[in-house]
Order: sequence, then C-alpha cells, then structure tokens
Amino acid sequence: MILRMKAFDSTGLYFNRAADLMDLSENIRRLLLTPKREVQVQVSIERDNGEIATLIGYRVQHDDSRGPMKGGLRFHPDVDLDEVRSLAALMTWKTSVVNIPYGGAKGGIAVDPVSLSPRELELITRKFVDGIHDLIGPDIDIPAPDMGTNDKIMAWFMNQYAKYHGFNPACVTGKPVEMHGLPGREEATGRGVGILTFKLLSRLARKPNQTRVAIQGFGNVGSHAAKFLHEAEYRVVAVSDVTGGYYRAEGLDIPKMLRWALDHRGTLAGYKEAEQISNEALLELDVDLLVPAALGGVITKRNAAQIKAPVIIEAANAPVDCEADDALAERGAVVLPDILANSGGVTASYFEWVQNRQRYQWGISRVRQELDRVLTDAFEQVWQLSVERKVSLRTAAYIIGIGRVGRATVLGGII
Ligand code: NAD
Repeated sequence: MILRMKAFDSTGLYFNRAADLMDLSENIRRLLLTPKREVQVQVSIERDNGEIATLIGYRVQHDDSRGPMKGGLRFHPDVDLDEVRSLAALMTWKTSVVNIPYGGAKGGIAVDPVSLSPRELELITRKFVDGIHDLIGPDIDIPAPDMGTNDKIMAWFMNQYAKYHGFNPACVTGKPVEMHGLPGREEATGRGVGILTFKLLSRLARKPNQTRVAIQGFGNVGSHAAKFLHEAEYRVVAVSDVTGGYYRAEGLDIPKMLRWALDHRGTLAGYKEAEQISNEALLELDVDLLVPAALGGVITKRNAAQIKAPVIIEAANAPVDCEADDALAERGAVVLPDILANSGGVTASYFEWVQNRQRYQWGISRVRQELDRVLTDAFEQVWQLSVERKVSLRTAAYIIGIGRVGRATVLGGII
C-alpha cells in the first residue's frame, strides 16, 4: 500500500497549479517538464570482504535554458529514478527563483553510505564519475553535495574528473575549503533558511524571542539553521535527527547540542538535557514555527490535521506533499516553499563556481553579504507577487521560476 504521495507527484502538481494561472499551453508545459537527459550507470565495486557490489547511479539533467545544469548528488537507500527526476525539476525552478544563471539537475545512488567503509565510499564515487564524466562539466552540469554526501566526496569527485579532463575545480561544488571550496558554503543552506525565516516572520509581525521553533533534522541544513535561529534569539524548543526528537519548553541549549553531535559521530544519541520525543511528535508540537530539514514527504494527508505550527519553512526538499499543502492552506498556515527556503545552498555553490572560474578566493564576509542580497531580492519578489496575485508563496515562487525558464526557452529558440 502506498501511504504517501511521492515527491514527484507533488512537484508536478505544484507546477501545474502555477501554469494554470499563467495560461501556459499544454505544449509548453510538456516542453518545460520533460527532462533534457536521463542516465543510469552501473556502479560496481569490490567490497572490503571481497564481494562484488553492483549499484545503479542516476543523473537527470532537467533544463539548461538559463545556463549549465546544477544539482546535488544524493547517497540514500530510497533513491530511484522518479525521485531524482522530481528533484532535478525542483532545481530548475529553484535556480530560477533566486535568479542565478543555471538550470537544474540531480543525481544519486541507491545506497546507505553508513554501511560503507571510507574505501568503499571512495570507490563508489570514483566509479560513478567514470560513468558520467563525459556528460557533466563546468559549462554543462555541476554536481554538489546533498543527503548522504559531503565535501570529502566532492573532493574525490573533482580528482576523478581531472583524470579525464584535466584540472578544473569548477566541475563540482561543495568541495573542502582547502581544495578550492568556498568559505561559508557548508553553512549556507542553513544560514539561508535563517535569513529567510527572519524576513518572513518580520512580514508576519512575529518577534524572534516570542517564536518557539521545532526543527526536524540536525544534519548540515538543520544544525546550521538551529545555530542561526538560536543566535538570532528565536526559542528553539525541539530538534530531532534519525535517533529521535529532543524537547525542552524553555528552549534548548543549541551550542551544547552542536558540540554533542560533533563528539558523537554527527548524532544526538544519548543527549540527556531534554525530554526525548518521537520524530512524529516533533512535527505535531504546539510551536510557532516548524522547520522540516531532513526528509521529503514527512507532512502528508495522514498527519496534516495534527500540525499546529502556523508557519512552516521547507528547509528539506519536498517535505510537504500537495494534499497536506492544501489542508495547511485551508487552516491559514503559511508555508515558505523549498524552492526558495533552501536555495541558500545552490546560491553559495554558484559563488564557489564563480570563485573557481575567476581563480580568486572569496572571503567569508563577502559570501555572507552576497548570500543575504540574493536571498533578500528573491524573497521580496516572491512576497510581492503573492500579495498582488493573492496566491500562496509557493505558487508565487513557481510563477516566477517557470516564467524565467519559459522566457529563456523561447528566446533561445525552440525549433
Ligand atoms: P544530512 O545528511 O546532512 O542530514 C540529514 C539529517 O536528517 C540528519 O540529522 C539525520 O539524522 C536526519 N534524519 C534522517 N532520517 C531521519 C528521520 N527519519 N527523521 C528525522 N530525522 C532524520 O542532509 P542535509 O544536507 O542536511 O539535507 C537535509 C535536507 O535538505 C534534504 O532534503 C536535502 O535535499 C535538503 N537540502 C540540502 C542542501 C544542502 O546544501 N545540504 C541544500 C538544499 C536542500
């Protein structure tokens, strides 16, 4: 039995909702929705125990009308072609909403990285590059980290790509700072979530110290968002990760939890200075702001009625499905959509690519300043359009995203 709508279905429905308001013809919709290229490659390695493991690697290149395609690389057991295809389209609308000169792509391998040794992880990464190196590149398609991948994996990626095409650090972003990475790239998605939360809550006349926040996920995005919001004096009362949820009504000691995760292989397991709750319970807490920052499809028809937060920031990709989105809207909840909320990551990736091409190292204050500028501009445009057209922030973001891609497609010539 399928309990939840697939992220793929929701992305298509959100697209169509905006396309209806834009009077887009069926032909143009089909053109904009059809991925430019989809590849599946064999990734086989010899494991440490001598067994042969054969995995499938995916790369979907959705659209390049506005520039080279850009999107993360996910290592997770649930990865399949449908999911990658949906996330690739999401990247097209995301790069367009923040108006950086890219299209959208996504890749992944259906594997649990925790089950692999460092040697196996490196081999899988290199084998994947062997399979797709001809189809990617700084002017074609530039991968980046996503769930289950990190800066180390991006360094292997760059090194393997160089074996075929020579030194070219702009072929991948999210690299270690010591290896042509960008200072501030790692924090950028969470920081962007923080910047946008601040903008949205100011518009809604909510004060930070009177805002109780629950965050699902304490990985790259969730932990940096928690840090930013805590420093901005929001009251973060609950966070969670794969080991469960942690709640404290008076507010959690976020700096202490960040140190705990650092000392305990990235998780909060064993943290005692909070009440332990389940991940489901965290989503349903009576808080002012909910930030799902882990998996897709966590707020669905099944639990939408129990979600009490009046404001939801989609820090993860596709955490709210279409049916739940409708139910939340009926109740007057405000949702900041993923294509804007977590766009700080791809924006900083763009800065890294620019830095690599300029051969000029950026400093952290420049990165933060430019990130703030790009996200503020995008937020103001989405907010204004949602007020003018009386549509949700999601629909406004899609109208802007689809509009720019549509115009570029037509200007470039279709025949
Ligand atoms: P990550 O792997 O660093 O962290 C994921 C977090 O989710 C971890 O804390 C993990 O313990 C937790 N988690 C896993 N399963 C869970 C479960 N069942 N319940 C609760 N928590 C669970 O990943 P990330 O990079 O932080 O990405 C999180 C989300 O943000 C993903 O949807 C990703 O696509 C999206 N995103 C990431 C970036 C980026 O720059 N990293 C950019 C844009 C969007």
